[in-house]
Amino acid sequence: MTSGRGHNLVIAGYKFSYQRRTAGNKLRWQCSKQSKTGCKAAVHTIGGKIVSCNNCHNHPKPYQQRV
Ligand SMILES: [Zn+2]
Repeated sequence: MTSGRGHNLVIAGYKFSYQRRTAGNKLRWQCSKQSKTGCKAAVHTIGGKIVSCNNCHNHPKPYQQRV
């Protein structure tokens, strides 16, 4: 098993960090600001596809989104 670099997700300018695998092959990604701001935004993916996305943050967007 190899660990690559893909331990971050950026969605709409917000960065999420890989947290853990939950039931099945679902991966949970937690907002990278969670530890500092208590932000509850989180994303679930299965096989690289987003299946659940809570993109409600309690802090400003950390990155500028390029269109
Ligand atoms: Zn957040």
